[in-house]
Amino acid sequence: MNIILLGPPGAGKGTQSAALVERHGMRQLSTGDMLREAVKEGTPVGLEAKAVMDRGELVSDDIVSRLVDENLAAMPAEQGAIFDGYPRTAGQADDLDRILAKNDRSLDHVIELEVDVEALVERITGRFSCAKCGALYHETANPPAKEGVCDVCHSTEFKRRPDDNEETVRTRMDEYRAKTAPILPGYEARGIVQRVDGMDAIEDVAKAIDAILKC
Ligand code: ADP
Ligand code: ADP
Ligand code: ZN
Repeated sequence: MNIILLGPPGAGKGTQSAALVERHGMRQLSTGDMLREAVKEGTPVGLEAKAVMDRGELVSDDIVSRLVDENLAAMPAEQGAIFDGYPRTAGQADDLDRILAKNDRSLDHVIELEVDVEALVERITGRFSCAKCGALYHETANPPAKEGVCDVCHSTEFKRRPDDNEETVRTRMDEYRAKTAPILPGYEARGIVQRVDGMDAIEDVAKAIDAILKC
């Protein structure tokens, strides 16, 4: 099973990916996470990507497609892949078709998380994560059960992304509208797009995704 989770920044892709990994042993391939890792490690890719990410613009197709290619090739053939935040341009969508074919995989579903744009700024400016295990939280919508303690690993340290500020979020949304939303019709023509109401509670969104995956 290979699926794409599509939706604007803050739609819930990372949250739902983590839930799918937990429930079904799938693997999350998040280009955002891969890039942040590269920035942290100070690799050539990271050095090139950092300024672009801080502005909220898109990193080049070549860089992100290479990261996906490397990560997918390293996966066991039977493990399902969740593409989170990739593809984001028409060029990346073509790259993904090639990468999947090379690995004898095919795309089963493109799941679009539909959300009200007004809700997104609030979601992103309230987002934080566990500094140790990366578990995602939200100040009001999804805080840890015990304040200041990670539900998953009990760490007491949390962090915020430097690009999760209102100004950068606007740029990221513009990029989504201009470059990412236009790849949907191509997938629609293939009959693999399913829509989920991303404004529902996290658990209900997860149930709707499970219904699509029939698991
Ligand atoms: P994306 O990966 O699409 O950018 P995230 O999964 O990181 O989005 O979610 C953005 C923020 O919104 C996080 O703080 C997360 O806890 C919160 N969130 C995710 N899904 C929901 C939901 N269904 N309802 C309310 N808040 C949500
Ligand atoms: P969000 O959770 O808001 O959807 P991501 O973590 O997916 O954001 O991405 C953060 C930033 O990393 C993006 O604003 C962009 O600069 C870069 N990035 C991530 N994935 C891609 C991609 N597929 N193509 C180009 N840039 C990307
Ligand atoms: Zn944790």
